[in-house]
Amino acid sequence: MPERQLRVNRRTLIKAAGATSAVLGLSGLGLSGYRAGKAPDSYTGCEGSQGAAQDFDRKRFAVDTPPYEKVGPTSRADGRTEVIFSRVGVARSAAEKGAKIEDLDEPFKSYYAQHPEDFEFDKQNRELRRKVREDSEENRNRYILAEAWAGAMGAVSPRSIGNDPPEVSDFPRQGSREPFKMKSPAATAKLIKKVSYEFGTVLVGITKLNPDWVYQYPSSRRGFATDEPIEVPKHWKYAIVVGTPMSWDPMYANPTYGTSNDAYSKSRIVAFRLASFIKRLGYAARPHTPGNSYDLMVPPIMVDAGLGEQGRHSVVITPELGCNFRPAVVTTNLPMATDKPIAFGVQEFCKTCKICAEQCPSGAICKGDKEVVRGYRRYRLHSSKCFNFWNSTHGSMGCRVCIAVCPYTRKSNWVHKTALQVTANDPTGLSHKMLTGMQKRFYPGPEPSDYYAATLGGKNASYREPPWWLKTEDFIAL
Ligand code: SF4
Ligand code: SF4
Repeated sequence: MPERQLRVNRRTLIKAAGATSAVLGLSGLGLSGYRAGKAPDSYTGCEGSQGAAQDFDRKRFAVDTPPYEKVGPTSRADGRTEVIFSRVGVARSAAEKGAKIEDLDEPFKSYYAQHPEDFEFDKQNRELRRKVREDSEENRNRYILAEAWAGAMGAVSPRSIGNDPPEVSDFPRQGSREPFKMKSPAATAKLIKKVSYEFGTVLVGITKLNPDWVYQYPSSRRGFATDEPIEVPKHWKYAIVVGTPMSWDPMYANPTYGTSNDAYSKSRIVAFRLASFIKRLGYAARPHTPGNSYDLMVPPIMVDAGLGEQGRHSVVITPELGCNFRPAVVTTNLPMATDKPIAFGVQEFCKTCKICAEQCPSGAICKGDKEVVRGYRRYRLHSSKCFNFWNSTHGSMGCRVCIAVCPYTRKSNWVHKTALQVTANDPTGLSHKMLTGMQKRFYPGPEPSDYYAATLGGKNASYREPPWWLKTEDFIAL
């Protein structure tokens, strides 16, 4: 058979297999979608807090190596400079004093010398905030309820693990408890997942901790000296990752009406409860929680724990919640069976979709190919641009537009559950293009520049209308 014909036939065969999978997804697997979406307007993941919502059949998509590419040699992130919240104060203060990069102390001097663009962006955000506050009273007042709600959602939540070193803070109080002998790692994993759901999580996964994901230097003190490298504690053997969704309607009305605080609080509570539970069994446990109380990078640990794949926007995409969740991690030495990573088509989908990059107001999400970052190939996110946009809007701090617009972040009704099964089962990528086109057609967003405050040239836009209960003008006489 001529080579060309052979190639065509192979391609046809692959496409036919993909189409068959897609049809199977629509028919057979659509049934599970229908079952899961019996409430046609059900909210993503919020409807089950005891494991019922984590219903994607991960075993069918389990892989031996995680869906990211290690091209090595690898290095660990410096939490002092590579975490925007840790470095931004230095640039702000430099802006006030008129200081240049060469005037800064290490490690900021070296970081900004390598990333002079970040220095320029990071110096701007206090001024951007000031410009937002100059907006008209009418525009500012529109977000009174949204800000009150965001503040309340962050008001009741455990925050601190203190400042003892991990060898002290992670363990049960000295002499209080010898570790109980657990019957088996599999039974322990089952127990930990069940109590995590009872504590309020929607997602939970378990992995061995890859030390590459621990910061080289800490982003906040948490018992570490800020100028000494972190020696990964020997008792950080496993990582349990939990994730809870943000309330749907405000999330959909990002950036001005949404808040991360609701899911931050829930995930913090779950992680602190889980760490307490494990310590009461005599083992070491340490919560790593949002906003910035982490000693490690969470997204790749989520991937390792089989909860999802990292998307173009750097957030992990899960089958159940898309990217509408906030995670927390507990590191521990409690022996448990671990989960396998999954590959359900996200890497292929993100190659052509690019909706988040097109709708990101700040241009922080790359539209091009992956780059090598610390020995791993991934999409680079420009965190300085992103954080500047957070300072360019009303409402609670943050943005989350990339989460709202991602086609994987949809309500868990049967249509969206079925679409997920189709993309996950289609090796040709044909359905990806079709679904991306549908997403753009049915869920268009405002112009990215419209998301900015009026005093910064925007229209104070949100991705969707605010929920009725956050419309200040309908409740407060101004
Ligand atoms: S949070 Fe907003 S500004 Fe940041 S990357 Fe996402 S869409 Fe862009
Ligand atoms: S919006 Fe599209 S490109 Fe961006 S993370 Fe989601 S699927 Fe990937």
